[in-house]
Amino acid sequence: CGIVGYIGEQQAAPILLAGLSKLEYRGYDSAGICVRDESNGNVEVVKAKGRLRTLIEKTDDGHSVIGTSGIGHTRWATHGEPSENNAHPHCSDDKNVVLVHNGIIENFQELKEKLVKRGYTFYSETDTEVAVKLIDYYYKKTESPLTAIATAMLHIRGSYAFGVMFKDCPNKIFAARKDSPLIIGKSEHGTLIGSDVPAILDQTRNVYYIDNLEIAELTKDEIHFFNMDEEEIEKEMVQIKWDA
Ligand code: GLU
Repeated sequence: CGIVGYIGEQQAAPILLAGLSKLEYRGYDSAGICVRDESNGNVEVVKAKGRLRTLIEKTDDGHSVIGTSGIGHTRWATHGEPSENNAHPHCSDDKNVVLVHNGIIENFQELKEKLVKRGYTFYSETDTEVAVKLIDYYYKKTESPLTAIATAMLHIRGSYAFGVMFKDCPNKIFAARKDSPLIIGKSEHGTLIGSDVPAILDQTRNVYYIDNLEIAELTKDEIHFFNMDEEEIEKEMVQIKWDA
């Protein structure tokens, strides 16, 4: 039900956990984060059922998960019971693609059947898992994160806000949306994804609104926006004036 992402100069986990706690008001049944250590390419996923407090304790306030980029999620289960296994992030079989999702993938059953025929195994009961496997499928075909995400979006029906990372694509995180809220922020030390302003307001007031069927590519100091044809789109930065 909430998404946070960060890539920058600071440690990601404490920023992700603080952002997720600002989204607690939306309700959730489980939470998880994925953090990548940009110095050695290590990727770590930690999830917990129940209170965000459990995830915070499990990661020693975020200090046990080292890395300067990551994505985080609070889940409000729509497909599959609330459990640690169904909690996001979800990963591709080889753990290369990692994804968080808010929303509902309406044609997940049909996509799942196609992916099973292509040799994919499913480990959760979520609709979300088809998104990460579909992106993985197109990524292996095209070797382009942007093409993989855009092509998967063309096949997915329903609502989604995605945060995506590729283990073998360092120094970048991606975001995309359709009919689920998502904003992008730029702070002095990094760039951020949030499903709502409060998620990133501690870090910055400078945001970009990402529209339906657009993809954002974030590095620690740059944000690029693309449409479904992978053409770059120019966006105006907006300054948030209100206090959360
Ligand atoms: N439909 C997804 C699930 O059940 C995402 C739910 C959400 O928006 O938190 O895992």
